[in-house]
Amino acid sequence: MSQANVPVPLTFKDYKSATKPIWCPGCGDFAVLNAITKALALLKLPLENVALISGIGCSSRIAAYTSVYGFHGVHGRALALASGLKAARRDLTVLVAGGDGDGLSIGGNHFIHACRRNMDLTYIMMDNEVYGMTKGQASPTTAPDWLKSKLTPEGTGIRPFKSAALALASGASFIARGFSGDPNDLARLIVAGIEHKGFSFIQALSVCPTYRPEHAEWKNQVQKIDREATADPLVAIQHIVADDGMSTGILYQRALPNLQPGGREPSAELADFESEFEL
Ligand code: SF4
Repeated sequence: MSQANVPVPLTFKDYKSATKPIWCPGCGDFAVLNAITKALALLKLPLENVALISGIGCSSRIAAYTSVYGFHGVHGRALALASGLKAARRDLTVLVAGGDGDGLSIGGNHFIHACRRNMDLTYIMMDNEVYGMTKGQASPTTAPDWLKSKLTPEGTGIRPFKSAALALASGASFIARGFSGDPNDLARLIVAGIEHKGFSFIQALSVCPTYRPEHAEWKNQVQKIDREATADPLVAIQHIVADDGMSTGILYQRALPNLQPGGREPSAELADFESEFEL
């Protein structure tokens, strides 16, 4: 191979697109974008072998900010889109990204079924406990006594989801929690999630300084888990339910059977696909 043909290693910048994010200054989603691109660079994944599927919301804009294949879907349907893509193109590394409202409210049904199907997807849910794009309504992870929304001035009075517990109960085989304030650790978790064979759920605590400025305190509240990831669901659920939702690391990892419907080989011609739709 001549010197001119030697592949140049990709850096995390190569995984970013030329489109500049329009997130608010200080938004945690910038750090999540950095963590994703860093993870892809660490794994040296070719750009054309990766797809990032997202839903709707501030964080779901992320698909446009990377240079891998992307699809900015409709609200709550990112996991359905990603499952279809993975079924058809098993050779691709498929990442899914979105917010807590997109993933647990509008897309809640897709979330639990994606967990139990255990397809080889890596789902990064940017959790800021608020709907940011629609100007600050309570989401499924908002505390019941949060009083800042005009829609719920006395709080929701509804218990929030513990997304890690929901993922565990629904059959996910990899569950982790990271923090936008520690993008290197979040990148490590994303690498582990991509390497895991099965459905990887990564709750990325991502600050929203515009509507949840009090989350600036998260940097003093998050704590790294100082134990090995457990493969025992009983142990995992005890930890998940007992902690305050601020412990970061791999909460659970287990090898479980995963659904992989028969897909076309990557070399299939477009004509093969089109012929199925001929009238
Ligand atoms: Fe980020 Fe919040 Fe601004 Fe949305 S509203 S871009 S989540 S800081």
